[in-house]
Amino acid sequence: QTSNNHNASKDSPEDFHNIAYQDNGAPYSLQFDDIYFDTESGCQQSEQVFLRGNQISERLLETNTPLIIGETGFGTGLNFFLTAAKMQQLIAKLGDDKVTDVHFTSVEKYPLSGESIKQSLAMWTDLQPLIAKVLAQYPARPQQRCDISLFNNKLKLTILFDDATQGFAKLKLAKHAKINAWYLDGFSPSQNSAMWSEALFEQIARLSAEDATLATFTVAGFVRRRLTHVGFRVAKKKTAGKKNQTLVAKFQQSPNSGKGYLLRPNQPKAQHVTIIGGGIAAACLTYQLAQKGVKVSVICKDEAIAQGASSNAIGALYPLIHLQRDEISEFYVHALARARAFYDELVAQGYDFAHAWCGLLELSYKEALQKRQEKFASAPVWPHDIIHSLDAQQASQIAGVTLTNGGMFIPQAGWIAPAELVSALFDAASKIGQVKIRTNTKVEQLTQLDDQRWQLQTNKGELVASTLVICGGADSDQLAPISELPQYPVRGQVSEVAIASPDHQLNTVICHKGYMTPANNEKFCIGATFDKNDRDIEVRSADNTYNIKMVSQSMPELETITQSSIVGQKARLRAMTPDHLPIAGPMPKTDEYPALYGKLAQDKHWKINSPAPYYANLYVISGLGARGLCSAPLVSDMIVADLCNQPYPLPSKMRFNLAANRFVIKDIIKGKYAAS
Ligand code: SAM
Repeated sequence: QTSNNHNASKDSPEDFHNIAYQDNGAPYSLQFDDIYFDTESGCQQSEQVFLRGNQISERLLETNTPLIIGETGFGTGLNFFLTAAKMQQLIAKLGDDKVTDVHFTSVEKYPLSGESIKQSLAMWTDLQPLIAKVLAQYPARPQQRCDISLFNNKLKLTILFDDATQGFAKLKLAKHAKINAWYLDGFSPSQNSAMWSEALFEQIARLSAEDATLATFTVAGFVRRRLTHVGFRVAKKKTAGKKNQTLVAKFQQSPNSGKGYLLRPNQPKAQHVTIIGGGIAAACLTYQLAQKGVKVSVICKDEAIAQGASSNAIGALYPLIHLQRDEISEFYVHALARARAFYDELVAQGYDFAHAWCGLLELSYKEALQKRQEKFASAPVWPHDIIHSLDAQQASQIAGVTLTNGGMFIPQAGWIAPAELVSALFDAASKIGQVKIRTNTKVEQLTQLDDQRWQLQTNKGELVASTLVICGGADSDQLAPISELPQYPVRGQVSEVAIASPDHQLNTVICHKGYMTPANNEKFCIGATFDKNDRDIEVRSADNTYNIKMVSQSMPELETITQSSIVGQKARLRAMTPDHLPIAGPMPKTDEYPALYGKLAQDKHWKINSPAPYYANLYVISGLGARGLCSAPLVSDMIVADLCNQPYPLPSKMRFNLAANRFVIKDIIKGKYAAS
């Protein structure tokens, strides 16, 4: 019982607000000539707009930090009670420690009495026990604020009886306790324009944690503009029910973060995008842009699409997951989940490409790996469905062959025929939108004509693009200014093998020093060689020998693969980065960084708001290495968010880890540009 409503401030309302009820029982404000919620679909709407709009169910399970929710307009408290009910269900199902603590702060200028709240919500019988608990702690008069606690203090509710802007302006939050989910309720802007003021949005920005989410039922243009102005990325969201569109936003572009180099250009939605490349990155991006109604021109140097690394017969869908939770692994865990959902959606739409989600076994074929596995098994740092340890017997059962070693198993991984996938994506994109593919066209030079146009010098003459995305794989480092990024080519030869023994018929992908895949059309793949800075794509018989040797050294228990069963081979280039993470974002004007951000060399926490310098309308996806099938859907999401002016799917740290300017910023911090 923590009511704290003694020191009445003169700003606080003197008394409770009177409301009326419509014939169907809906609470109604005479002052605003508007209902609090719709009796028929109130719960469903509230749940859709505010809880789902902020992904509350998922975030209640993120126990590493408390969830801090801010609301404008407590009203009858329906949004609060639904949030509390969700939390209560999860606690009952999973236990106290699996659900995060929540602090819900709502500001209400015209508060309702406990009696009015009770009457307004009387129709929802399920909520009554919770309502009773809250009303037992609710004040008899609306003086300044009240603090209410539920679920042994796991859920705290603070209601500030004040005008939304004034109330939030007075609120002081510690840096680690800022608001990370906003419910913007309040009557509609047309009935209550005073609440949706610029000053309110400035307070919301001041109180928001990095990547805070926000949801509201209104899609009014001025609300979107005010949110964008203070640093939110905004998107309309289709919802079921009466309101078919609502707004969601993320606080990702704060102009006052003190880290200007994290800011990506806020550009209006691109109408037409030119993509250089014809592999998995170009295909995912084309498909996604087509879905957003953006026209796409694809320029591919080869006679057909998918001739580079995407032309291999079988490719592993394979995340890089270390046995500790580091930033690389966190990225790939996200990427794998996104890739699976993305490819499954394509299949659900009737597109076909050979694939199997058969999992992938990282074989512990030497002592160091066995030790690593044992250590993980005794204290797993990842959930079972991400990666887990298998002994030799379990591994043999999953692989369908007898193995003498166990390993680490990634159940959601698998394999795909990449060229079929790339074709399916371009096909699907062409059906959905306007897509033009130009093959046999090699871009030799890029020239920026002005802020709106890039000129492309090609073997077939000049082309002009308004927005350009380079998805050129290992060729990207041949094209200025992309060539300034520290990526390098790595040659890899894959050998295709005809099945010559039951030992060669795997049910899962196996990774050792190289990898061996299950069969597709009676053939399987082994590989791959790894030759840094070798650009030659002629096949070499020595490389087949090497691939065979890697299999027999790691899995001597299997019948040896012979040279005579090799029925094909292909050598292609992968684009690698020094930190093993892809690049996805706008192309920086690297030269301008040292002058702007040089002080980071003395103090890496130095605060500067100057936005990062970028070439206008030039973006890059590169450095996907050998894991393009896994990372391409998620890195395309990032570029789609850039080009369609939408919230980013990844939090700030991961955005920086993918940004093309991370290299120059890290070099500055390391002192590489320090004056001698
Ligand atoms: N979330 C509420 C519920 O579940 O019942 C519905 C809110 S109702 C649509 C809008 C609320 O915003 C009302 O309670 C109204 O009094 C409050 N409100 C309107 N203008 C306000 C302002 N300037 N500051 C704070 N609250 C305000």
